[in-house]
Amino acid sequence: MTNTSGVARLRNFIKQVTSCAESVGDTDSEAFVDFCRAQLVDLIAKDDWLPEEFAAPHPEHYQQYLLHCDPLERFSLISFVWGPGQKTPIHNHGTWGLIGMLRGSEISQAYEVAEQEPGLIPARHEVLNPGDIAFVSPEAGDIHEVINAFDDRVSISIHLYGANIGLAERFVYEPASGRSRPFVSGYSSSLTPNIWGLSV
Ligand code: FE
Repeated sequence: MTNTSGVARLRNFIKQVTSCAESVGDTDSEAFVDFCRAQLVDLIAKDDWLPEEFAAPHPEHYQQYLLHCDPLERFSLISFVWGPGQKTPIHNHGTWGLIGMLRGSEISQAYEVAEQEPGLIPARHEVLNPGDIAFVSPEAGDIHEVINAFDDRVSISIHLYGANIGLAERFVYEPASGRSRPFVSGYSSSLTPNIWGLSV
């Protein structure tokens, strides 16, 4: 565990992951993802660093605040903020993603595309609690929906993806037919947060 607190923990995470991306080279490699997972475990071990601007729920839909995008778009870090009962559509990612639960609890329901008939088949059902990490990737299972496990409070998870996920072209799915349509998520924040100017 690093000996930092507040937003310095976030800055330290970004420095560590950026340094590793430089030394490993291939940011789709198992070595890089394993390093990122360990760093994310460290980051979410304490809930004392996420600036409140990036922890604010929206009354009608979940928020995805960009915390940092690597200048070479090798990875991006986002805080997902779920209001009570809010959930995503069923979607894929097209790249690897690590999901670390910071506050509250969320449910990740995975789906597989049925081969014999139209429609999606429910697969792995995971409940994430603070400190837990989930992983998605095109190889390990890439289609899921995410639901706030609570209908009376906010939940927040921190996501690290192997791309600039807000601009990535991916898909949302209709479960009964299995039909997909293209989707670009964007980010809730229109400006990259200036985490470098926040005092610790
Ligand atoms: Fe997802």
